[in-house]
Amino acid sequence: MSTRALQQVIQSVPASDGAGVKLRRSLGRTQGLRVDPFLMLDEFSSDDPNDYIAGFPAHPHRGFETVTYLIDGHMLHEDHLGHRGDLKSGAVQWMTAGRGIIHSEMPQQERGRMRGFQLWVNLPAREKMKPASYRDIQPSEIPVAELPDGGRAKVIAGTFDPEGRSIPGPIRGLTTDPLYFDVELPGGATFSHPVQHDYSVFVYPFEGELLVGEKALKTHDAGVLAAGDRIEATAGPHGSRFLVIAGRPLGEPVAQYGPFVMNTREELEQAIRDYQSGELTRAA
Ligand code: MN
Repeated sequence: MSTRALQQVIQSVPASDGAGVKLRRSLGRTQGLRVDPFLMLDEFSSDDPNDYIAGFPAHPHRGFETVTYLIDGHMLHEDHLGHRGDLKSGAVQWMTAGRGIIHSEMPQQERGRMRGFQLWVNLPAREKMKPASYRDIQPSEIPVAELPDGGRAKVIAGTFDPEGRSIPGPIRGLTTDPLYFDVELPGGATFSHPVQHDYSVFVYPFEGELLVGEKALKTHDAGVLAAGDRIEATAGPHGSRFLVIAGRPLGEPVAQYGPFVMNTREELEQAIRDYQSGELTRAA
């Protein structure tokens, strides 16, 4: 067994998106700063309504998946197909944009804390033009695994499967085969979990710091791990809460223009034409 070392740190930077939502972007903060198949990770966290109230009014996507994990708050998602998804604290929306979606993501609270993540997961070339679809996952559908050193892991995608236990999460069977865990550890405790040797893996502490091998990873920085068949991370002295995200790399060219992610420039130009003509969201 080989334990994965910390290979690269992608520091998050303050950013603003939608109609002025303040967030921190690590993966995807510049074109090319990706961890195949993961294109972008945004963290939003604020007690100030001015940082989030404007939300994300209607905008398009094509060619990938957006995963919204709302830790605290209340957000309403609506799309051009009439789908409505009400996200409350602890819920996840796994949206496959496929050939096209136009949607809005709007806060339903005027005060209090809004905190969560949006992860963009690429689709393989042969699935980029499939029909749009959703999974709205309620907090009660997300299993919580108790960890041997104390702490716990919420299993959003993939199967939590250390020795002798197997706890499947609600999202499984995708081509990118993602693992998505929200892990909380007491000070000095270690999280350890097997992973496919060649999968891409990163960890993202959003409370406290983490140690990966001898190297420290600061709060709000993404730590990309080298190849290996085991993920290990140890909480700093005051404990840590962090995301563990892994997936099968696609190894395909990425052509991106904002909310469109395809394989070639020609496909991007087609996506823009389809958006302008209304073809983006016409039924396949
Ligand atoms: Mn969106």
